[in-house]
Order: sequence, then C-alpha cells, then structure tokens
Amino acid sequence: MTSNKAGTMTYNANTLQNLIAHAKEYGYIFQSSEIYDGLAAVYDYGQNGAQLKKNIRDAWWKTMTQLQENIVGIDAAIFMHPTTWKASGHVDNFSDPMIDNKDSQKRYRVDHLIEAHAEILQQQSNKLQAEALIQRMEKLLATDDFAGIKQLIIDNNIKCSVSGTCNWTDVRQFNLMFSTELGSVAEDANLIYLRPETAQGIFVNFLNVQKTGRMKIPFGIAQTGKAFRNEIVARQFIFRMREFEQMEMQYFIRPGSQKEWYAYWKEERMKWHKEVMSFPAERLQFHDHVKLAHYADAAVDVEFNFPFGWKELEGIHSRTDYDLGRHQEFSKKKQQYYDNEINLSYVPYVIETSVGLDRLVLATLSNAYAEEKWTKEDGGEDSRVVLRIPANLAPTKLAVLPLTKKDGLPEIARDIINGCKSSFPCFYEEKDSIGKRYRRMDAIGTPFAVTVDHQTKEDGTVTIRYRDTMTQDRIHMSEVKGKVLEAIAV
Ligand code: ATP
Repeated sequence: MTSNKAGTMTYNANTLQNLIAHAKEYGYIFQSSEIYDGLAAVYDYGQNGAQLKKNIRDAWWKTMTQLQENIVGIDAAIFMHPTTWKASGHVDNFSDPMIDNKDSQKRYRVDHLIEAHAEILQQQSNKLQAEALIQRMEKLLATDDFAGIKQLIIDNNIKCSVSGTCNWTDVRQFNLMFSTELGSVAEDANLIYLRPETAQGIFVNFLNVQKTGRMKIPFGIAQTGKAFRNEIVARQFIFRMREFEQMEMQYFIRPGSQKEWYAYWKEERMKWHKEVMSFPAERLQFHDHVKLAHYADAAVDVEFNFPFGWKELEGIHSRTDYDLGRHQEFSKKKQQYYDNEINLSYVPYVIETSVGLDRLVLATLSNAYAEEKWTKEDGGEDSRVVLRIPANLAPTKLAVLPLTKKDGLPEIARDIINGCKSSFPCFYEEKDSIGKRYRRMDAIGTPFAVTVDHQTKEDGTVTIRYRDTMTQDRIHMSEVKGKVLEAIAV
C-alpha cells in the first residue's frame, strides 16, 4: 500500500486480472467474438479503448511525421506479393523454437516454457538459480543450439503444465506467418501471407516515396497498421496478440552513419515515451538484444515494467542494407539512391523504430490504474478506482454534468458541450447523483468534470473537478474550454 497524496492510499493496484476486468467493465477492451466464447489472443477495442488507441496513434504520428521535416507517412496494404516475404527472410527465418509434450500434445515456445520455470524459482526465493537458468537459455538460443535447449529443459526437470510429464519432443522451428489464398478459383489461387510486420510495405515503396517526395537522405518513412503472427503461446492479455497494430518508422541513411543514427533514435524514442506518453522513468529501461535478428547489426528494446514484469514495448534496430539489398536481388530492380553530396549511388542503410500500439495501450492502462481509499472528514471510509490517463491521451476530456434534470440546467450543460465538442471529445450525463457520476468518470479516466448548478444560472460559473486530485474550483463557464485545451496540449 502506498500513499500518493495526503490521506489517499493506493492499494492492491495493478494486478493484471483487475486491469482486465476494469478494461472490460468500462468499454476499453473486450474478448473478440465473446458471445462464442472468444478467440484466443484476439481482442476488440470498445468505445473508450478505440479512442485511447487512436489518441496514442495520433500522438505517435504527430511526433514521427508532422514534427519532422524529413519523415513522411504512408499506408501500405496488408497483402503483399508473396516474394516480399521470401526476400525479407520471413519465409525461411520468421520462426520460434518450439517443443511439444508427447503426452499432452501441447506445444510450447521454449523461451516461454523456461521463463515460466524461472518465475516459479523466483517465487521460491531461488533468485540466483532463476537468473542462471535464463542466462544459460539466452546463450543457447543465441547459437541456435536446440539440442542444448532440450537438455536444459530436461536437466531442470521442467514439466508440461497439462500432463505433468517431462516427455518432450526435439526442439523445432515453427513459422509464425498466417497464410491464405488470393484468387477465387482454388486451382489458380496464390498462397499469400498476412503481413507479420508493417516494415516491408515501407521498403518496397522506398523509391516511390523518395522520388515522388524528392526526399534527400537521411529521410524516414512512417506507417501504422495491422500485423499478424500465429503466436503459439499467446498470453498476458493484449501484450501478445495474433492480430495487433504496429507503428514503425524506417530511417534511410548513408552507409557508415548507422552507429550515430542508431544512438539518435534510441534517445529520441525513449524521450517520447517519457514526454508524450508520460511513462515514469522508473518504469522504462533499455535492454540490448543478446541474439541479433538475421537483418540487424545492432538492436535494443525499450522495456516497460508491466504488471507481469519487464517486457518489450518497442524495438530499435539497425537493419543495415539487408532489406533493400534483398528486394533489389529478388525483384531485379535497383533500390539505390544517388547521393549528390558525395557523387555516389548506394543502397541506403536503415535504422528502424518499431513499437506495438496495443502494448502502448496496455502500458498506459497499467500506469493509469489505481485503486484508492481514504478517510473522509466525518471519519468514514471512501474509495474509488481511477484511471489516471494523461489528459492528452484520455478518450474523453471533459464530462459536463447538470446537477438536476430540470430548471434549464441540461440546456446550459449542452451549450457548454456544443462549444467544446469540435475541439475535443466531451461526455454528457444527467443520471445518478453527482458523486456517482464523478466516480464513473474517474473509472473511465476523464480528466475534467464540470457541474452545472443553480448558481450557474445566476452568474455563469460552474464547478470544475479535477480527476487526479479530486479538488474542485469555481470558474466561469467561458473558461472551461481554454482550461481543457491547455491541459491536453503536449
Ligand atoms: P516479442 O519478442 O515480444 O515477441 P518481437 O521482438 O518479435 O516481440 P518485433 O518483431 O520487434 O517484436 O515487433 C515490434 C513491436 O511490435 C514489438 O516491440 C511489440 O511492441 C509489437 N509486437 C510484436 N509482436 C506482438 C504481438 N504478438 N502482440 C502485440 N504486439 C506485438
């Protein structure tokens, strides 16, 4: 239990189960096709979740395009020519090592299986043993030593949670791409993939954008959109989904300058998480990759401390000229840039920033969710659940609440909304007591609530209540819009 302001105690906050229940109850996130018992690792965003997600996407888009002189945004299709995925290496390399239990037929990603065992060791206070196990696993995975990984599982007596046995198959690679058929007649249909990352849509359009936008290196192309991965062990709510959204930016640079740009984007992205997303510094850290992907010469994750521990939020990768070089090779079309400053043509190098939008939503909700209780002036207990979502990201910015349903108060409230709604989302509510309505707005994460009462009719003033402090001010209703606009500007 921690005290976050005088007299207010935060308790029991932030277990994943509480967060999942809250996200459902307040229209943020639903299980997909829930009436049919859901579809594993697929989720729908409700009325508040969709708006929160859009606000985060817009904030990223603004930082990565509008505020940059030399980065433009595109929107490439989800379906791409199948050769794209041969060239990118995904057909051959986009796989995770898996192991099956012969008794239960259950399949596990080996890193998840071993990590889960390490967590149990941690809980049993065998911290050193847990760390040694993870270190050993990372070493073996870095060299693709699958026999060694299997031995590690056996040596540690790691059992299947269903059968309870140690009867394991060999470790095998399992491709994560979803495939489908393009074309109406089965015999003529082509096998195509649902994109597992948005980046390739940017690479294949590199020259289109460079030429039509008359872009000069260094320049970037940004994109947001859906990606699909057949994650075998999908868990931890919207952290690991089979259909999710990425926000990626490829920055095209002169070969040899990658170290400098990699360092630049690493810092820029960390700054964004702190300043625009308002994540506290102590919940963020860098984690260098032990095993580099087939295309990378340096890679780091920005990790967030989720309710289930430190996990990847964003990847920053130095991808060399791998992707453009491979597309040049497979398409037989030059993917080169003529650099007139040095009179040279070359295939540009690329620094990529790649963040998961759904993981940002989860990080935002985890950071915002608090269960609070305190002692009132009369000695009684009071409590609330609040989402302290930063005002710039909150789905609804302002609630306008007439004290009663009569005496002309609803009309004044609607006038206030009409004056504000083209600038930001507002919410009107006249049912229930004011106290209950405030609690509901706290639970949804609305940063401002304005109450219109009988005094408003006399002097035009309203009560404005601040979600985070629960304090109230009396201000003129003409000041409401400016106050909210000031708070949501970042
Ligand atoms: P992980 O190691 O967690 O599987 P990754 O290293 O495969 O992630 P990248 O390929 O670097 O992830 O993808 C970039 C970003 O896309 C990740 O940082 C993450 O935020 C997001 N992402 C990747 N896979 C998923 C998923 N299954 N569900 C939700 N977001 C995802």
